[in-house]
Amino acid sequence: MPLLPMSVTPADLLEAEKIIEGHAHRTPVLTSSQANQLTGAQIYFKCENFQRMGAFKFRGAYNAISHLTAEQKQRGVVAFSSGNHAQAMALAGKELGVSVTIVMPHDAPAAKLAATRGYGAEVIIYNRQTEDREAIAAKLADERGLSVIPPFNHPHVIAGQGTSALELFREVGELDYLFVCTGGGGLLSGCALAAHHMAPDCVVYGVEPEAGNDVQQSLRNGERVSIPVPATIADGAQTQCVGELTFPIIRNYVKDILTISDQQLCNQMRFFMERMKMVVEPTGCLAASAVMQGNLPLKGKRVGVIISGGNVDAVSYADFIRRAEALL
Ligand SMILES: *Cc1c(COP(=O)(O)O)cnc(C)c1O
Repeated sequence: MPLLPMSVTPADLLEAEKIIEGHAHRTPVLTSSQANQLTGAQIYFKCENFQRMGAFKFRGAYNAISHLTAEQKQRGVVAFSSGNHAQAMALAGKELGVSVTIVMPHDAPAAKLAATRGYGAEVIIYNRQTEDREAIAAKLADERGLSVIPPFNHPHVIAGQGTSALELFREVGELDYLFVCTGGGGLLSGCALAAHHMAPDCVVYGVEPEAGNDVQQSLRNGERVSIPVPATIADGAQTQCVGELTFPIIRNYVKDILTISDQQLCNQMRFFMERMKMVVEPTGCLAASAVMQGNLPLKGKRVGVIISGGNVDAVSYADFIRRAEALL
């Protein structure tokens, strides 16, 4: 298949790596002898659950805001998100002295509203049933001259997210496989570019929830497929359609997309809790679940896994753990 035109290059990732250095954490790469025993593989977990604000999204947000002109920074930025992108933008804006407006639904969890405001962002509430958040953001952008920074479909966001895999390859060297979760595909496309640059023989798989396999369908149909909002506990991967910019990169550099059930995500959360003493949010468990519960032939292989985030409220976490079965 000929390469499709792409909006992001490895040079953009290397630039992003320099920009975020000293601002984003260089997150740890952890191993687990129990995970290795279970799979027969040598697994390297890149732990973005330990990233600032608890997920890889700080990387893309910081890189994107940094690229604005002085005048754009002066005016401020706007984003629409009820999840990790909101907190990432709020924190990155605070660090860079740029005012941040976030459009959030009226029924967003109180903890997320508080966290976003806590980082100093202005929160504008909209009604999910009757109003369109993109239209609200566009109107704010228009009226106040704000720059819109979307959660995944943006070259500087994609490049920023890809620095997580770049760091993984720098630390552990070549890998046979890399597994990355996907919602809109910002993280997956960035990491696939990093793999292509650092270890061209590494086979990259994306992983998404069984209930919301839009990227899998898109890849198999050869064009972007839209689905209704999927019912899954993986709230970071409830996107309805892969991005216009992320899709060509995924088509060029990702082997296939695998899917995982909510039950498997709960099992994986329990494994991380019991065996590795880590809190990982459901979406953050997708890639690891594919490796540890997917029955793939990984014996003797060197396998990278991106753990994307760790933001989950305590009451939901307790519920997920209660539903989980032990993996070993
Ligand atoms: C946003 C998010 C994802 C999905 O990222 P995309 O770039 O939209 O594919 C996965 N995990 C976590 C924890 C997230 O916050």
